[in-house]
Amino acid sequence: MSDVAERALHTRVGRSVDALRRSLIDNLFYITGRSLQKATPNDLYIALAYTVRDRMLEGFITTAETYKSSSARTVCYFSAEYLLGPHLGNNILNLGLWDNLTQAMLEMGVDMETILQEEPEPGLGNGGLGRLAACYMDSLATLQIPAIGYGIRYEFGLFQQVIKNGWQEEVTDAWLRNGNPWELPDRERRYPVKLGGHTDQYQSENGHLRARWVPDYTVYGVAYDTPILGYGVLNTNLLRLWKSEAYNAFNFQAFNMGNHCAAVEEKVVAENLSKVLYPNDASEVGKELRLKQQYFFVSCSLQDMVRIVQHDLGDPALFPEKFVAQLNDTHPAIAIPELMRLLIDEHAFTWEVAWDITRSSFAYTNHTLLPEALETWSLDLFKRILPRHLEIIYEINQRFLDEVRLRFLYDDQRISRMSLISDETNPRLRMAHLAAVGSFAINGVSAIHTSLLKTTVMQDFYELWPEKFCNKTNGVTPRRFIALANRPLTKLIDDAVGGDWLKNMALLKHLEPLASDISFQSRWREVKLTAKHQLSNHISQVTGITVDPTSMFDIQAKRFHEYKRQHLSLLHIISLYHRLKCNPNLCIAPRTFIFSGKAAPGYGMAKLIIKLIHSVAETINHDPQVNQTIKVVFLPNFNVKNAQHLYPAADLSEQISTAGKEASGTGNMKFSMNGALTIGTLDGANVEIREAVGEENFFLFGLTAAQVQERLIGGYQPRLVIESDTELENALNMISSGLFSHGDRQLFAPLVNNLREQDPYLVCADYRAYLDCQDNVGKQYLNSERWTHMSILNVARIGRFSSDRAIQEYADEIWKVVPVFAKP
Ligand SMILES: *Cc1c(COP(=O)(O)O)cnc(C)c1O
Repeated sequence: MSDVAERALHTRVGRSVDALRRSLIDNLFYITGRSLQKATPNDLYIALAYTVRDRMLEGFITTAETYKSSSARTVCYFSAEYLLGPHLGNNILNLGLWDNLTQAMLEMGVDMETILQEEPEPGLGNGGLGRLAACYMDSLATLQIPAIGYGIRYEFGLFQQVIKNGWQEEVTDAWLRNGNPWELPDRERRYPVKLGGHTDQYQSENGHLRARWVPDYTVYGVAYDTPILGYGVLNTNLLRLWKSEAYNAFNFQAFNMGNHCAAVEEKVVAENLSKVLYPNDASEVGKELRLKQQYFFVSCSLQDMVRIVQHDLGDPALFPEKFVAQLNDTHPAIAIPELMRLLIDEHAFTWEVAWDITRSSFAYTNHTLLPEALETWSLDLFKRILPRHLEIIYEINQRFLDEVRLRFLYDDQRISRMSLISDETNPRLRMAHLAAVGSFAINGVSAIHTSLLKTTVMQDFYELWPEKFCNKTNGVTPRRFIALANRPLTKLIDDAVGGDWLKNMALLKHLEPLASDISFQSRWREVKLTAKHQLSNHISQVTGITVDPTSMFDIQAKRFHEYKRQHLSLLHIISLYHRLKCNPNLCIAPRTFIFSGKAAPGYGMAKLIIKLIHSVAETINHDPQVNQTIKVVFLPNFNVKNAQHLYPAADLSEQISTAGKEASGTGNMKFSMNGALTIGTLDGANVEIREAVGEENFFLFGLTAAQVQERLIGGYQPRLVIESDTELENALNMISSGLFSHGDRQLFAPLVNNLREQDPYLVCADYRAYLDCQDNVGKQYLNSERWTHMSILNVARIGRFSSDRAIQEYADEIWKVVPVFAKP
């Protein structure tokens, strides 16, 4: 047999249907120890996963070698969260093996798509921020940019949501229970991480006074590597997640003395660091373990990077030539004093040189303006965990404030506002300030967010260093959120514009001339209907609710938060219900309202809104007078896997946050990419999406960010708004009357009273505009030709919201990195 033929049949790399089938059987046999006859769906998943993984490793190794031998700069993405979603389907897609593997499995009597559902997803993130990191890893590899993603290998990811009697309950996410074929532990890649204790001074050999950190204890971080494939390229980047382990896993002395718990205490304490993801989205909980987690992964990552620089270039001073590190929010901001510590204490650099290196190495992405989400740490707590870092931060602060003093001539208020440490009775360390001072670039995640950043929370920093600020509007990967999630749409677009658009989303503009083509429109509607049928089946399996796939699918899927205003949509539903009850002949477009999302376990109001959705759903769905016209569904456990079912099936995307509160949003992009029209406020990336798709193809309503500020400053009184709008008054009264709670008037009182008395997110102020806009949406939907036209134009013009565009901008304008092409 020739080399080529041999290779084609090779069980580990061959790509033909025959080779893949042999490989599947082989892996089933040798990895799971099962025959095809006895294989469970999970066994088949494992066999398929290893068959795919075998075909990823050549690219992974070749890429690492190519990068190493090039002198190109590498991006290190520092993120406490990666909301990756299932790997298997994505890897099959990126390798171009979809059709052959489907065929190979079919020949074994197995349906591949069923087996794909077996994969437990790594839910190592809360929401948008973690998903952004995952999209960026995908685009970095696809654009062939040398990159490492650094993070934490949480043993338990974001809790799984189950609903009991309409209430959210949290279940542990044991995603590693059946093993994880996608990770390659590198047991030799382990670094010590010190915690607690105190600092000393000592004289070095050459007489310099040096600092020494004497920790309470040390843990190890072990590298778990996941290859991240580019789409249609050989380049395969590295996601390196750290697992914490004990220095000493078993204490024989304690065991011999009969103290069995003490014998494993060190192991338990150490492993706690990477045990579980904190389930808070857009709010901070100043927990000690969280600070330890942040420091743990940052320290491992920087030690790893310094080792690579030293090994490859021989001198840690060349750090910024080899690497640039992007801080995904302030969670990894402790990297700034940690790199200073490594350079000064462990590599004997002077302060000045170390600071130059540090300040050339980090760039910071701000993700929120919400005051409750801005990270601060109590100095007492911080000093207990990281005493040496606090000393370094004091020194950074002193030098920084000297610079401010010189520049703004003793403007004491400014100095106190800008200090890294707040001026309170219990002073706190401001992580956003630390990140800003230690970075050469600061970016927001949408145009409006960046401009608000400059005029609100970072105004003083903007006045000091305007050149550091830039905008990088978020993007999402079309590979996962179109090609994988919506195969019929992908096929239709392929047929219309050719196959290159997945790597060059600007090509979608060639759909524009087809927007008014009647036969294309009808295929477009078929694609949407197919997705709606699939979602309907899924909904009926999971919730038992039957929905009509020809009704308008109006979807709000995202974390539950008052600023995202799921309750504004609820008030609309309740008002529609009221209208239909008063006027049974009312003719409106039938709608299915679908909600999905998790609430932080400690966020009572968000959990109450979830309960109210279920209560309203129960009433409406069981009322024969209305349930042919409107239905309400809550799809539990919103995660990437479920998201992939939801986005393709939406007719209407709800992006209704209070203007000024949503930094960017990325769900808005995913919906629009799948042909949903958006109803939204001028917030986050909605503003730019509307500009891109055309204002006539977007349903805009509500106060602007400036108007929101005005209303709040002017002493906003929701009571007055409610008194002047009987429909709103009725909707609120229906809730408080116990109509949805079996007569219980207390249950939803906290929610209704909050809206009547404070309404901090201006739900009442935007209610009328929202309802009027929704009435228009309903009318437009009845004209299916016009609706389809708008839908096609949304997709045709959404190209710039690809994460490829976002990463290209980061690469050119912040990182100054270029692609390095891995070749066979
Ligand atoms: C995209 C995505 C988000 C972010 O949604 P927003 O609407 O931008 O808040 C959250 N969770 C998952 C699973 C996602 O895929």
